[in-house]
Amino acid sequence: MTPLRVHSLHALAYCERLFYLEEVENMRVADGAVYAGRRLHVELAREEDEEEWLTLNLESERWGLTGKIDCVRRRDGAIIPYEHKRGRAARSREGTAETWPSDRLQVIAYAALVEEQTGREVAEGRVRYHADNVLVRVPIDEKARADLTRAVARARELQSTVERPPVTQNERLCVKCSLAPVCLPEEARLAATISETTHVQPERETIRLFPADDDRRTLHVLTQG
Ligand code: SF4
Repeated sequence: MTPLRVHSLHALAYCERLFYLEEVENMRVADGAVYAGRRLHVELAREEDEEEWLTLNLESERWGLTGKIDCVRRRDGAIIPYEHKRGRAARSREGTAETWPSDRLQVIAYAALVEEQTGREVAEGRVRYHADNVLVRVPIDEKARADLTRAVARARELQSTVERPPVTQNERLCVKCSLAPVCLPEEARLAATISETTHVQPERETIRLFPADDDRRTLHVLTQG
């Protein structure tokens, strides 16, 4: 079986439909945010001491995963995988910085790859959010491994289905999604809420995702016939 990209698990935790579009339908769009993320990694690699900055391509037979880790560092004898993100950290109700679920899953998967490669247990991964200059530590414990197991199983399940998962209920995710122009989430939501028998269009505020300001009207055909 072809190994899953760790990055695909990041997409899975973000939105199952995004995972499906990228990994099953092979649709990938590099938008401004994607290029900015790549630039960040190149700049970081330049700034860091070469011995400190170590990017690794790893594959795990046990997990069926493959991935390119941003950086692995040794701290007090421990090996710690790092992931760098351009944006801000999530916040708990109390205001404590936390990882976003997709970033957490990604660094857990990297830790699993490092463990298999080195034969040594990895106790922690770290995610640095550059917009607010915050470092969040992710424990690699039983819960983390169980979450990874569940995510890999769900990814495999989705790979074997022929139905695109529905659009996410969290509309805010679509605003930052690189595949919004392909997924057409607002159109899909609208289509789902229009009564098939009456064709009455319910009142619903839609988010303009693209283009940001265009006075012309666009017709999207979602079904045939
Ligand atoms: S646009 Fe929204 S629903 Fe579609 S893949 Fe992206 S996050 Fe998911």
